[in-house]
Amino acid sequence: MRRLLARVPLLARFSLLSLLMVALIGLAVGVALHLRVEHRAVKEAERLAVALAGTTGRWALTPQDMAVPVDAERASQLDAELSQPLEDAGVAAVKVFNDAGTVIYATDHELIGEQDPEAAALAKSGTVKREMGRGTGDDGSGGRTLSVYVPFSTAVRGPTDGVLEVYLPYAPVAAAITHDTRILVGLLALGLLVLWAVLYRIVATASRRLHRQAREDHLTGLPNRTELHAAGRALLAGTSEDRLAALLLIDLDRFKEINDTLGHEQGDALLREVADRLRGVVRPADLLARLGGDEFAILVTDLPHRGATAEVADRIGTALRRPFHLAGVALELDASIGIALAPDHGTDVATLLQRADVAMDGAKRGGARIETYDRSRDPYSPERLQLVAELRRAIEREEFVLHFQPKIAVATGEVTGAEALVRWEHPTRGLLGPVEFVPLAERTGVIGALTRWVLDAALAQCAAWREEGLELPVAVNLSGTDVLDAGLADMVADALQRAGLPGHLLACEISEHTVLADPRRAADSLARLRGMGVRLSLDDFGQGQSSLSYLKRLPLDELKIDRSFVMGMEADASDAAIVRATIDLGRGLGLRVVAEGVESDEVLADLAALSCDIAQGFGLSRPLPAAELEAWLLGRAIAPAAQPA
Ligand code: C2E
Ligand code: MG
Ligand code: MG
Repeated sequence: MRRLLARVPLLARFSLLSLLMVALIGLAVGVALHLRVEHRAVKEAERLAVALAGTTGRWALTPQDMAVPVDAERASQLDAELSQPLEDAGVAAVKVFNDAGTVIYATDHELIGEQDPEAAALAKSGTVKREMGRGTGDDGSGGRTLSVYVPFSTAVRGPTDGVLEVYLPYAPVAAAITHDTRILVGLLALGLLVLWAVLYRIVATASRRLHRQAREDHLTGLPNRTELHAAGRALLAGTSEDRLAALLLIDLDRFKEINDTLGHEQGDALLREVADRLRGVVRPADLLARLGGDEFAILVTDLPHRGATAEVADRIGTALRRPFHLAGVALELDASIGIALAPDHGTDVATLLQRADVAMDGAKRGGARIETYDRSRDPYSPERLQLVAELRRAIEREEFVLHFQPKIAVATGEVTGAEALVRWEHPTRGLLGPVEFVPLAERTGVIGALTRWVLDAALAQCAAWREEGLELPVAVNLSGTDVLDAGLADMVADALQRAGLPGHLLACEISEHTVLADPRRAADSLARLRGMGVRLSLDDFGQGQSSLSYLKRLPLDELKIDRSFVMGMEADASDAAIVRATIDLGRGLGLRVVAEGVESDEVLADLAALSCDIAQGFGLSRPLPAAELEAWLLGRAIAPAAQPA
């Protein structure tokens, strides 16, 4: 019952219960009123009987009449005397008992002479008694009667010498009762109904207000997250391949900064203004909501095609890029937008929100501003989640292997080192490259353990080679989280110690954007590594688009030109220019320059002409398992590769 009630809306529950209560109160008061009216009507009848006994009874009967039942002649005489007053009083019949309980006279002569001990007792005690009769025929009518026994005296102030029993027809009394009760109950019902209506109005208004408040964002007046879920359900109900919908999640960039700098009031004003501008962008059929903070969502239905989301996102971008004027300052705002499509990426608001959130995360990381959900990049998609679980297990089971790619001095052809590149020997999917799992390991915190394994394995290999008389430095790639980890230097020191190797046999490669995430913290970590003699190499140089000044502040040894420029330098003059400029820059800063992605002899020759220090690439050797690299090295030693001019 309670569960059933819980499903009924509050207002309906209130109106039902209150109506029931009011009806019960009405019934109780109605019954009480009815009893009260009945009591009064009966009392009235009793009073009439008493009056009759006191007047007519005494006046018509003599003390002699009370001794024995009257004879027929006296009975007729009394009939004549009493008939008129009895009729006037509306009395149906009377009986007169003497104090011995004998009927000495009755309007129905048949009853004269009968005996009733109760009448004798009443005469003795002098009490009045009422009795309700049902169709006894005493009054000849067959209906309900009310009989009242009234002790009386034939002499003025004399002792009680008889009892008058008066039969009153109940019908007129009942009619009076019904009439009075009906009026009272009618008034009562009307009053209660008005009371209920007033209560209902008050509660309904309050309930509507609460309902609205619960679904509205106070600051902007837009629907809130709850409302997005509720209204979104209806909007998404009919989506199909032919009726596309999309959820756009909008997150303002730099809002926190503005809020902190200009204060919360200005922050609120900005959010209100953003809400107004977004209102101008959406169609009436779309649902715009504020999810909290600086996050907004738009549910767009009936999209003509999938690409239409880009137009909406574009309109949003344009609307937000117009300067905002706050506290006398003109501010420009940018937003990151994540998009999830229905039914492609989900058919309910919760799923679409989660997917749009993933897409937005990608937009923020990639600096793309607008991104549509892509299942293959979703760290939370079922396939990905399974891979995360497998990844954790892979570390315990040591399912990883290292391949080594040689680095070669361009001028001499000498092998100067090898870069350790991790691969995962997945039990069912075969050999997986790092792009397929390293980013995932970074996002899920598995990277620390993976880096430790790679360090140990690379250094163990380096130590094994050293044992065999081959002193070949190894390079290990570090990810951003590793570089920002305060325990990095200790971890590297421990690994070197376990392998029994000096620091200079290890190089750490860190990518440019990793360092850019937090240059100061990275610099501390790197300085400690450098202190151990570990060489530091800036990987994928040219991909990050930031200031070069940090180059001079970081304790680097080596600059690796991103392979995209090297691979493109034959065909693209600007790639060639970048390679050339980077070599000059590196040399100017006293750094060794490595060109990775060298796939052909032509590129190698060009690099030699540009006096690039080191080359690495498929054209020289692919990354190889340690044993194969040894064979490769042996082959080179026997028949050295042709030296570039
Ligand atoms: P990276 O450090 O820039 O490594 C060089 C990548 O370029 C390697 O890809 C290598 O196979 C590839 N490569 C080398 N020469 C050529 C060439 O001539 N042509 C082409 N097309 N590609 C070439 P790989 O092994 O797939 O590694 C990709 C990235 O994964 C690496 O880029 C590195 O950033 C990351 N990575 C590899 N191993 C590890 C690791 O143990 N830890 C971490 N954190 N990242 C790793
Ligand atoms: Mg590398
Ligand atoms: Mg690289």
